[in-house]
Amino acid sequence: MKKGLKGLIVTSLLVGVLAAGCSNSQAPSGASAGKPVVGVAIYKFDDTFMTGVRNAISKFAEGKATVEIVDSQNSQSTQNDKVDLFITKKVNALAINPVDRTAAGVIIDKAKKANTPVVFFNREPLPEDMKKWDKVYYVGAKAEESGTISGQLIVDYLKAHPEADKNKDGVLQYVMLKGEPGHQDAELRTKYSIKALEDAGIKVQKLAEDTAMWDRVKGQEKMAAFLAAHGDSIEAVFANNDDMALGAIEALKAKGYFKDGKYIPVVGVDATAPALKALEEGTMLGTVLNDAVNQGKATINIATVLAQGQTPTKENTGFTLTDDKYVWVPYKKITRENMNDAK
Ligand code: BGC
Repeated sequence: MKKGLKGLIVTSLLVGVLAAGCSNSQAPSGASAGKPVVGVAIYKFDDTFMTGVRNAISKFAEGKATVEIVDSQNSQSTQNDKVDLFITKKVNALAINPVDRTAAGVIIDKAKKANTPVVFFNREPLPEDMKKWDKVYYVGAKAEESGTISGQLIVDYLKAHPEADKNKDGVLQYVMLKGEPGHQDAELRTKYSIKALEDAGIKVQKLAEDTAMWDRVKGQEKMAAFLAAHGDSIEAVFANNDDMALGAIEALKAKGYFKDGKYIPVVGVDATAPALKALEEGTMLGTVLNDAVNQGKATINIATVLAQGQTPTKENTGFTLTDDKYVWVPYKKITRENMNDAK
């Protein structure tokens, strides 16, 4: 008798817990308010540029969608778990910034099975994955364009400052701080920045190249190592993003650069607020506006339209769709002269 009562209590407790879990997972927050719910996963919150995109997503969602934004903590398996949770909760659309862009196929399979449309952003899935389903979209920027612009910043500088060829050998000795290997922006910015120099007829010699994983502290460490190995023979510094460029500037400052006439051109990409400050101070030569605001806006606009069961068009999203599934937000060259355009 006693045992039976205990069993009954345990069973009813369990049912209660399960029911609570169930109702929680089936009614995503905000759905009750009548707005569609979009589950957003960022590859990691601790990334300066992605923080800008994340803030834009929240801002442009106001009044039209409820967004639930999660941190994938730079782990693809964590992100996959978060996606599973979103699908269990029956969110109306997903917006995913993959940790590993080659893992997008797995996410697409899950989303398709649940009929939950998905917008990827910032880390471009492989073309074959993008073709897996018609409710898959991508918002980003043409990586090669940012590479070309950063190369042009150095071309412009060399034309105006022939003394930048410090050893007068007619060759530009440079170092490259690369973003995360395999990321389309790291690979193509590295390639196209140098191509822009060569296309302008400038001879180049790479003294060193290493990844600093988009990170400011790592950028500083790698630049310190480049300086230890090559000293003042380095004539230009390319960084695939501003955080790494700012780290490099710190390492250069420690070696006496940017005072008493000692200068070296450093270029980055993103046009983040600290980079604009460095432009103003004259430590960073130039950067490339990576438009976090419009990338965030396009992502949430498309996700909201999809979440309402409609097909995204220029009319209902405000953005042109290339091949019916890609939004390309343009880059822009930024120097001290036009830095207000990036603010
Ligand atoms: C940005 C980097 C950022 C990376 C994250 C790039 O487009 O330029 O600053 O770390 O995206 O995926």
